[in-house]
Amino acid sequence: MISEENFGIYIHFPFCRKKCLYCDFYSVGERLADWPLFGRAVENEFMTRQIPSGSTVSLYLGGGTPSLAPVDLIKRFRNMIINPIGEFTIEVNPDDVTEERAKGWADAGVNRVSMGVQTLNDSELRAIGRRHTASDVFSAYSILRKYFSNISLDLIFGLPGQTISSLSDTIDRFLEMRPEHISAYSLMYEERSALTRLRDAGKIAELPEEDSVEMFRLLTSKLRAAGYERYELSNYSLPGKRSHHNSNYWKGIPYIGLGPSAHSYDGDRERRYNCADLSLYIKGFAELKGNAGVVESEFLSDEELREEMIMTRLRTCEGLDLKEFQDCFGEKERKKLEKRAVSYLKSGDLRSIDNHIILTDTGVMISDEIISDLF
Ligand code: SF4
Repeated sequence: MISEENFGIYIHFPFCRKKCLYCDFYSVGERLADWPLFGRAVENEFMTRQIPSGSTVSLYLGGGTPSLAPVDLIKRFRNMIINPIGEFTIEVNPDDVTEERAKGWADAGVNRVSMGVQTLNDSELRAIGRRHTASDVFSAYSILRKYFSNISLDLIFGLPGQTISSLSDTIDRFLEMRPEHISAYSLMYEERSALTRLRDAGKIAELPEEDSVEMFRLLTSKLRAAGYERYELSNYSLPGKRSHHNSNYWKGIPYIGLGPSAHSYDGDRERRYNCADLSLYIKGFAELKGNAGVVESEFLSDEELREEMIMTRLRTCEGLDLKEFQDCFGEKERKKLEKRAVSYLKSGDLRSIDNHIILTDTGVMISDEIISDLF
């Protein structure tokens, strides 16, 4: 895929009305949202950052919950960027979608909406603490359709209490909506999430690994049959509708992340991490009372860069380009990598095409193991 954008901007909106039980993204309660102050902080942070002139930007508003923000703030953020903007995505929660907001987002220049659905089974939604119902999703989707021709829906499988049949039903109802893009993740029990605490206390049961594998197979086969291509481990799209912004992350294109907990990458060796602390962030960028601890950075070593290239490229359906790998790290490293890949090529978990190594469908299911073995 060739995208016109060669620079990314991500803005993290760190507010949620209610914390979902599985989530470990940084966010605080909506009652703490002082939108003018947050807006000022993001604008001030933006002024400290450089965007190469002549770049075309993909803009991604994530969170947290950007769909809680006043539409005027979204317009302000869009207008602070003078470079041309290609793909412009906002993440939304179904119960925030109204006719007025959807129109406002479209007027602000948003051309892609990513809606967090997760499942269309109401008892599964309750089990993971989502604040919407399946019926909210259908109403939101029909409003969004009037304003947007590029919609992505998020799905999570392996939920507590989920069965193959309930997942199958959710997938069928996703396909009836026919979004351009679907992101589908296996539920992760994150270290700091409430769901993990419930599991550890024996209050909910984690699905057996075999069920999650079967669910992944079902998902991939149904989506493929409906014309969706799996172009990355967890992402499926109709032809020509891959996410530009996320694809650029996997290609190592530079981006800046604004807002608390956002990350940035300069396309070479530097990674920056904003503090996951709203008050510190506001103090540093809105009240200008000092930046100690607000932003940290690190420079990647050769080894870290190599691991990063293996990890990001193998996520994609184009795989790892061995020529690019050799150009960056030399022939000796390439030969070492090829040697480590042999057993997976023999077992059929990797395949080799045109000097690229690519995860097969079976390889995707053990991708963590393969990737770390190739390091
Ligand atoms: S999943 Fe989204 S809406 Fe739910 S708590 Fe996390 S960031 Fe907020």
